[in-house]
Amino acid sequence: MKKYDYLIVGAGLFGSVIAYRLKQMGKTCLVIDKRPHVGGNIYCENVDGINVHKYGAHIFHTNNKQVWDFVNSFVPFNRYTNQPVANYKGRLYNLPFNMNTFYQMWGVTTPDEARQKIESQRYKGEVHNLEEQALSLVGTDIYERLIKDYTEKQWGRSCKELPSFIIRRLPLRFTFDNNYFNALYQGIPVGGYNRLIEALLDGIDVQLNCDFFDSSSTANQNHSASCIDFVELKFLHPALTVNCEPLTVNHLKDSWQSIASNLVYTGPIDQFYDYTFGHLQYRTVRFETETLPTNNYQGNAVVNYTDSATPFTRIIEHKHFEELVVAEREEPKTVISREYSTEWQPGMEPYYPVNDEANNSLYEKYVELAKAETNIIFGGRLAEYKYYDMDRIVELALSVNL
Ligand code: FAD
Ligand code: UDP
Repeated sequence: MKKYDYLIVGAGLFGSVIAYRLKQMGKTCLVIDKRPHVGGNIYCENVDGINVHKYGAHIFHTNNKQVWDFVNSFVPFNRYTNQPVANYKGRLYNLPFNMNTFYQMWGVTTPDEARQKIESQRYKGEVHNLEEQALSLVGTDIYERLIKDYTEKQWGRSCKELPSFIIRRLPLRFTFDNNYFNALYQGIPVGGYNRLIEALLDGIDVQLNCDFFDSSSTANQNHSASCIDFVELKFLHPALTVNCEPLTVNHLKDSWQSIASNLVYTGPIDQFYDYTFGHLQYRTVRFETETLPTNNYQGNAVVNYTDSATPFTRIIEHKHFEELVVAEREEPKTVISREYSTEWQPGMEPYYPVNDEANNSLYEKYVELAKAETNIIFGGRLAEYKYYDMDRIVELALSVNL
């Protein structure tokens, strides 16, 4: 008899929700991850008591009450509301584009004045790309100061070559409301995202440093290395109960059926099929993280740098995600990350899928191969080659047929 009903590749949010559901259903599963921690991209590193969003700022926001109640049943969420600020050549503007932005840009004080100002400089032709879309929504001043350079830094492409839908993600409001999201529910888990993942994986067998494709993974081969990982794991995730018994098979991709009846795969789909049709492309982000001897560096969690001379796109000050009254904490310490957006190369962390025509049709070829599998579920942002927010990931993981 096989040891597990399911092998789950990837201890990110998708894999962890599936593992939780399987446990509720009385099924056994083993979760593996090639990283030395659980949580995937929502993992937080504790630096001097500050939860650092190691793979980029993560703000949970959703309109789905079922998803909100589900995540809140594991960990309480705070009332953090994302209100990023844009810094353009030393001047600050509120985001998303709202009455505060229009006041800062033009000195207008009423919605009518703001509409007139935009109308006087709007592009009125047919929209074919992000530049035309932005000009048509907000006019030249906002496009030039707050959109053009930021977008080109982020995507490494001219706004004329980018699809218009990207900019429609940002709310445009004629009210004094700096909330970046229109979602009904928003917040950050109190104590960080690790608490959510640890609660989901509680009591489930987990093996870290274990690559599904790599025959030389330490957790696959070496018992003592696995136990060292276990000690590290207890340090990183003290609340998590895990199995430290090592796997005894090599190269799981070829032999997973000897330990489990079913597979849930949340890694890159092109890698699963050995890049048969070629690599899917991504944008990636390099984080330059620094601890500074000050209590409050920028007064906000997110400040975007929207000019072309600043090489990074934004600075995140992590403590603001959790401390609403930061000035009351006197400790002269804060952690910031500068984000540099770059083109992805094999070996780098894949972050944002480049869902252009060429990549989407390549992805469809892999989907055809995946459809022929009988006991494998492909899920999550890498296996589906889609940018999914966390709430959507939870929604999808809760609805998968197991
Ligand atoms: P992942 O978290 O990537 O998990 C996949 C796991 O599989 C990883 O841990 C990986 O190590 C593992 N894995 C891959 N290959 C193998 C292998 N061969 N063997 C073993 N393990 C493997 N969403 C929001 O809602 N709000 C935000 O503010 C937000 N900000 C974001 C900022 C950035 C920079 C990015 C990139 C994403 C952001 N997201 C945000 C989206 C969010 O990160 C995703 O929705 C979520 O993390 C996806 O979970 P997942 O489990 O699908 O993927
Ligand atoms: N954007 C911009 N200026 C900003 C913030 C965002 O021009 O200060 C644009 C940019 O093109 C970005 C898009 O709006 O890709 C969507 O913003 P969002 O915050 O959703 O970007 P994400 O980082 O999540 O892709």
